[in-house]
Amino acid sequence: MKLIRFGARGEEKPGLQLEDGSWIDASGFGMDWDFEFFADPAQLERLKSWLDENEASAPRVSSETRLGSAVARPGKLICIGLNFSDHAEEAGMPIPEEPIVFFKATSAIVGPNDPVAIPRDSEKTDWEVELAFVVGKKASYVPEDEALEHVAGYVLHNDYSEREFQLERGGQWVKGKSCDTFAPLGPFVATSDEIADPENLAMWLKVNGETKQDGNSSKLIFGIAHLVSYLSRFMTLEPGDVVSTGTPPGVGMGFNPPQFMKKGDVVELGIEGLGSSSQTAVAWDEV
Ligand code: ZN
Repeated sequence: MKLIRFGARGEEKPGLQLEDGSWIDASGFGMDWDFEFFADPAQLERLKSWLDENEASAPRVSSETRLGSAVARPGKLICIGLNFSDHAEEAGMPIPEEPIVFFKATSAIVGPNDPVAIPRDSEKTDWEVELAFVVGKKASYVPEDEALEHVAGYVLHNDYSEREFQLERGGQWVKGKSCDTFAPLGPFVATSDEIADPENLAMWLKVNGETKQDGNSSKLIFGIAHLVSYLSRFMTLEPGDVVSTGTPPGVGMGFNPPQFMKKGDVVELGIEGLGSSSQTAVAWDEV
């Protein structure tokens, strides 16, 4: 199933993307795509039955409609840093021996095609196409061979980053990762049964039509099962939490000279099986 959320910001409704790419309103199912839905794998089976019975009669959603974040506000948005060896290299940092874990404020989450706001005083706003997964049932001290049972689905994420705030202002990376609009999630969550091999998906990102990132999730240093198991040693992963697994090379700071975003830039990105998204850069006071 491909889960979407649509409508005005803050008033999103749950919907589904059908096989032909069209959208329907799934409000009649009675749940948003949130903690409660992802907590119980039986809900997905119930949703499939609901679709069988309601596909023809459910209200259609126009393709002009705004999409919201494909996941209702998660409890946590966790990111993994430097999880592609060639990205670690371009960032001038050593290849990590254990996953680098950081948080991104959940208030940064927006719809997949919403504008991205360049923060006030920012000169180093940058892009990062990433494969994110959505936690299903609660995960605490999960062995690696059971880890994927805790993944409900996958979603495209752009881990926008302000490099000065992240790297030159002291403390943790969170300051450069949490600005409003810095986490577009979507267009949809593909439930786990839709993605045969999440560790072999092409990933790409263009700025103003020019390819910047052209990678594949097969190059992840720490794979998804390992990340679930590893994170669950340090914190409980709760249903609906989102974990973003890291970016391939080709971010702005990796170019010589570096390339950072300016107002009017159009960023387009996609992952095989997870659709694509597009954000236009605006000034911080324009959203
Ligand atoms: Zn990232």
